[in-house]
Amino acid sequence: MDSFSYANNWMQKYVEKQLFDEKKCRQSPKYIEEAKIKIGNTMQLVEKAIVFATNNLIGLTKEKEKNTPEVKNAKIKTWIKQFCKNLQDNQFPINNALFGTLLDSNVTDFTNFQENIITQFYAEQTKLKSHFKSIHSSTVKWERGSPINQIMEKLWGYTAQCPFCREPCMWMHNHEGKSHKCLQHRPQGVGGQFWLGTKELVMENCNLMVNTTNQKFGCTRWTWEEVSNEAQKVDLAFLLDITASMHGIIKIVKGEVDKVIDKVKNEYPRAHLRVAFVGYRDHWNYERIVKMDFTESLISFSSFMSKIKASGGGFDTTEDVFGGLEEAGNLSWTAPNRLLMHFADAPCHGSRFHEGLWDRYKKDNYKDIKGLKIKDLIKKLKELDIKYYFGKINESTNKMITEFKKVSGDNNFPHEIDASCAATALNVVAESITLSIHQSILEWRERQNVIIISKNDKNKSNKMKCKTFWHYYKDYKSCLTNWDIAPDSIADTFQYWQWFMYNYSKELQELHGGELRDMPESWGTIDVEKAKQSLRNHFT
Ligand SMILES: [Zn+2]
Ligand SMILES: [Zn+2]
Ligand SMILES: [Zn+2]
Repeated sequence: MDSFSYANNWMQKYVEKQLFDEKKCRQSPKYIEEAKIKIGNTMQLVEKAIVFATNNLIGLTKEKEKNTPEVKNAKIKTWIKQFCKNLQDNQFPINNALFGTLLDSNVTDFTNFQENIITQFYAEQTKLKSHFKSIHSSTVKWERGSPINQIMEKLWGYTAQCPFCREPCMWMHNHEGKSHKCLQHRPQGVGGQFWLGTKELVMENCNLMVNTTNQKFGCTRWTWEEVSNEAQKVDLAFLLDITASMHGIIKIVKGEVDKVIDKVKNEYPRAHLRVAFVGYRDHWNYERIVKMDFTESLISFSSFMSKIKASGGGFDTTEDVFGGLEEAGNLSWTAPNRLLMHFADAPCHGSRFHEGLWDRYKKDNYKDIKGLKIKDLIKKLKELDIKYYFGKINESTNKMITEFKKVSGDNNFPHEIDASCAATALNVVAESITLSIHQSILEWRERQNVIIISKNDKNKSNKMKCKTFWHYYKDYKSCLTNWDIAPDSIADTFQYWQWFMYNYSKELQELHGGELRDMPESWGTIDVEKAKQSLRNHFT
């Protein structure tokens, strides 16, 4: 049973018990008590109106007046008018037109008339009261459908739930083309959302997540097969020093790249590789940079490589590595597995990067003559989620790699491999690609399991609408087109949810089969009153 039906049934039973159950206490059921009070109040109003109308009329009547039919008719008309007016003054819905038959009655003694009418009303009251005694939960007729359903709909809203936190949509069933929207959002772990590849429940609200720039979620419009195909896409770029001394390596890259691809396909037959090439020389060389953006065609790659001549360099020992890194960052990376394979036998300019080699740009330690900064170049590659491998050919590049690692703050960026034999180095590349695919598949499988888009939203025809599996939270609209999640920097209801998560952590973990880790101690100091107050602040 879904949570709406569960809550609805519970409420129905609870309310019915309160209204109609008479076993527990000696009093009659609440519903009948309420009916009695209402009937009693109504009767009092009617009685007052009768007395008022009669007194008014008796006061007006002249002793000697003849009771001609006209006079009698006028009198009864006045009585009805006064009676209705009095009730209407007391907000009682009544209409003079209801008294058609009374107009023809032959009333002369209004004191007697009053007594009669009151007696009759009291007899009706007794009948009415006894009628209500026979009403139970099964026989009760509500004027506009069950009030419990109406309350539930107000409280619960539409059955669509926020894809992240599972909070129900606030609009009623009649959506009128509006997007789904929630009155509040909750920590995503409340709805059973885990962090990627873990069993850790997310403690952040979704409306906080959509305010971030780098958090991503996986798309459930993708089938497992699509996810697995996507996870096997690889962009492999070669970054090569193409000065004269690199002749041998260039030849090997050209000759071995298809073997790399074969090796990967051996393991993952559906792997899909694109290759790109960036070659660099030095500042004053003709063709400082040669570049080919990603292609699926090995033939075009090979023919491009055939035209590359290892030449240039020579004026000093260092080369324009910065220029090469810049171009590598500008390639059109799209695959989830991104590898940059860098081969070089000389370091970049700047005395910081080498042990006193011949360098005409010794001072280019942080910024080169074209204004490129190593900090920015490394940052860009990292942001692109590129795995950067450096094939070490000799010892001259050691200091440069150490500096690059310092700049990236990551001892594996670049990841150094021995390229004294280029063919072996390419083997390492093939293995790295295979590992990367393997990891992507694992991660994506995890993620696929945790994001649940509510049944109402899973529109089959929309299935292939999303081009990418990963979406940034801030771009959630591109995937969840019919949702409105207002970004928030501090969720107003967060105190309530902190209290909730802290006090119901055991239940939450059991419910979702996950863990709530490192909950701040301060959450434990929030008491119920504070928690409620944060809700009140939000909703009033
Ligand atoms: Zn939400
Ligand atoms: Zn909705
Ligand atoms: Zn999507």
